[in-house]
Amino acid sequence: MNRRSFLKWANLAGLAVGLPSGSAFGAAPEDAKPGASASALPTKKVASPETILLKDYRPKSIYKIPVTEIPKAKFPLIDMHSHPYAKTAREIEEWIKNMDEVGVEKTIILAMATGAEFDEIHRKYAKYPERFETWCGFDFTGYDKPGFGPAAIKELERCQQAGARGVGEIHDKGQGLRSGKAKAPGMHPDDPRMDSLLEKCGELGMPISLHVADPIWMYQKMDRNNDGLMNAYHWRLDNQPNIVGLSGMVDILERTAARHRNTTFIACHFANLDYDLGRLGEVLERNANLYADISARYAETAPIPRFAAQFYAKHADRLVYGTDMGVDKAMYRVTFRILESLDEHFYEVEQFSYHWSLNGFGLSDAILRQVYRDNAAGLLAARRL
Ligand SMILES: [Zn+2]
Repeated sequence: MNRRSFLKWANLAGLAVGLPSGSAFGAAPEDAKPGASASALPTKKVASPETILLKDYRPKSIYKIPVTEIPKAKFPLIDMHSHPYAKTAREIEEWIKNMDEVGVEKTIILAMATGAEFDEIHRKYAKYPERFETWCGFDFTGYDKPGFGPAAIKELERCQQAGARGVGEIHDKGQGLRSGKAKAPGMHPDDPRMDSLLEKCGELGMPISLHVADPIWMYQKMDRNNDGLMNAYHWRLDNQPNIVGLSGMVDILERTAARHRNTTFIACHFANLDYDLGRLGEVLERNANLYADISARYAETAPIPRFAAQFYAKHADRLVYGTDMGVDKAMYRVTFRILESLDEHFYEVEQFSYHWSLNGFGLSDAILRQVYRDNAAGLLAARRL
């Protein structure tokens, strides 16, 4: 779950966040901070140009240039990063209809749950084994006491027998591991206490979707130089004492991948290195058991289309498609426009809450095939199950 899921949820919860009202259903946010107020509130009254606030800014492109509409992805795709947004059988069927229309062959549901909670989520989606997989979380009970490990492994094995095909989304935003409601403050994935559990994932053929850190502007000063201020202030981390910073979390990710070479890791959201793709490329090159998903970082890469396209070309074999942004057809279509088209200077403020203008990458068919489906299909097929 991320801030966009929050925006979607806030919209459904009746908070005026300024999103289109067409969304059918959504999930309660895991990351939404209690008492958080919606940051993208457009005010109804017309503000003077002298006092228009950044959060209310809704520029419209002036350019008479091509606008590409892509109702369906050019090739079938596997969405490696989604969540149990659909709660009822009917909502799941609606979701499948959307998937069919936009070209999603299969969606990985990162349940972030264990025990009865996982079983309940899995039961709903298991009716469609061709369309969904459910991945479980970790049980961190007793992580701060001697002897942590065996019980967590037992629950992992139980979840696998119940149908879990992988693990995720496991978060560490600098304060320690979290898996849905389960928390392990101060314990990071490279901690020796995690060794047996992460090794077991490799043995069981369960890949791990691991979210480290958060976007760079959350850590930076909340001032007029902050490039992502429109989103940053609401999700700020610059005021959190004693957290491992973004760079330190990327080091931890790398150490974790190096400690467990037989385990496959998928770093969520470009490992939050969307602002420094050069470093991500080096990390991928050093770690053959590491992939990166591109979910929920479309707006963050679309401002730099040429550099981003070069990065895709260089590392196309290690990137997997993902969304993490609900179930709407319009949401999927924005991702296709960014990946497939060469459109320039368009805004998707309602979708992403940035004032930045976006550009398409115009990825080649060969790259699209890899990122949309082939890498994910290979990764899933490699599991020994
Ligand atoms: Zn997520």
